[in-house]
Amino acid sequence: MRDVIIVGGGPAGLNAALILGRCRRSVLLCDKGEPRNACTPRTWGVFTRDGTPPFELRARGHADLERYETVERRAAEAVGARRLDGAFEVRFSDGRSERARRLILATGLHQNLPEVEGFDRYWGTGVHSCPYCDGFESRDAPLVAYAHGPGAKGLALELTVWSRDVTLCTDGQPTDLTDDDRERLGRHCIRIVETPLLRLEGDEACPSRLVLRDGSTLPCRAVFLMPAECLPSDLIRDLGCELTGKGTVPTRDYERTNVPGLFVAGDASRRVQFAVVAAAEGAMAAFAVNTELLREDTR
Ligand SMILES: Cc1cc2nc3c(=O)[nH]c(=O)nc-3n(C[C@H](O)[C@H](O)[C@H](O)COP(=O)(O)OP(=O)(O)OC[C@H]3O[C@@H](n4cnc5c(N)ncnc54)[C@H](O)[C@@H]3O)c2cc1C
Repeated sequence: MRDVIIVGGGPAGLNAALILGRCRRSVLLCDKGEPRNACTPRTWGVFTRDGTPPFELRARGHADLERYETVERRAAEAVGARRLDGAFEVRFSDGRSERARRLILATGLHQNLPEVEGFDRYWGTGVHSCPYCDGFESRDAPLVAYAHGPGAKGLALELTVWSRDVTLCTDGQPTDLTDDDRERLGRHCIRIVETPLLRLEGDEACPSRLVLRDGSTLPCRAVFLMPAECLPSDLIRDLGCELTGKGTVPTRDYERTNVPGLFVAGDASRRVQFAVVAAAEGAMAAFAVNTELLREDTR
């Protein structure tokens, strides 16, 4: 029986393992190695590592763990988990299973991109979900907010932080924009294009224009959208975790969940999706896990 199993080796899982290794806890950190941000050349806004490629950040995380002999890192996919007499049993795709007193799930999220030709191709280089992460690199360029639902107006207004050349594209979908909303967007020089889109075009590196179904085009250096997100596996659901309407986990203090002994850190929990926030959540969960185990062992 280990002290902790951590599923997911992104910033959240790696930082949790680091803190727990420093607490001399026996840790199994397993990761199937399919990070959601693999498509992006650089991770921005990371304290002292601004602009580091995502794989380099992970490699540094792995190197940091090497000196902690109680931490085992394993390339493996967890396919099932259950509670067992106050502990957890995790099953892996190779048929093995492991038990631990606490479980931290740091499995991140998956996203479903809208089906517009070119969105997949430029995902991470010219199609983004987070202007805080990628807005600065396309500052003062023509930006498109791709949205039609309740967040459409907010996303378009948000982009004016990075450029005064913003178009809201609804892709021909029904919107709930009121006359007041349209007037407010207009006051901030945001165009509204309601024609369906055909494709996003550009060169190898980045997009340059959107082609609309009526044959017209729109200059576009970057598209920002709010992709539908989902959990990458059923582990969280199978363990009986509460979920928000968006499919993330409404974690409590120190990333605790409604399931005793189960913690969810990183993008899979409800907070903003930044690498440093994920890492901080991993540290919080690790702190709480160590405190709980200490209390149990010194009762
Ligand atoms: C395109 C893109 C660009 C981004 N750019 C930035 C940026 O510039 N700056 C910034 O701060 N943030 C950026 N982000 C957000 C940032 O990448 C995330 O907030 C951060 O990676 C979340 O860390 P995490 O540890 O929660 O999850 P992840 O980094 O997604 O890691 C989760 C890991 O868990 C593994 N996993 C999932 N299920 C299982 C399983 N069942 N068994 C084993 N392993 C499993 C996955 O393969 C993955 O390796 C970007 C995100 C995307 C998608």
